[in-house]
Amino acid sequence: MKRFSCDESVELVTAYLERELDQVTAGRFEEHLGGCEGCERYLGQFRTTVTALSELRPQRLPDDRRERLLSAFRDRRTS
Ligand SMILES: [Zn+2]
Repeated sequence: MKRFSCDESVELVTAYLERELDQVTAGRFEEHLGGCEGCERYLGQFRTTVTALSELRPQRLPDDRRERLLSAFRDRRTS
């Protein structure tokens, strides 16, 4: 089986992290990373960025919506 080149692997990083690759493609991707320090490091940096971005999302929840959820919770407890 032909192994992925670095260019091919880099293009698959997003799909890999989103779990959009089929099992065979994901396996070949991981195989390339196993033997390629550069791509492994790239995936690590990419994953850190994606994780940091997704951790910011809850803070974007509008304050009034959060307030409504909290008061709904309070009302349920007192009634
Ligand atoms: Zn590579």
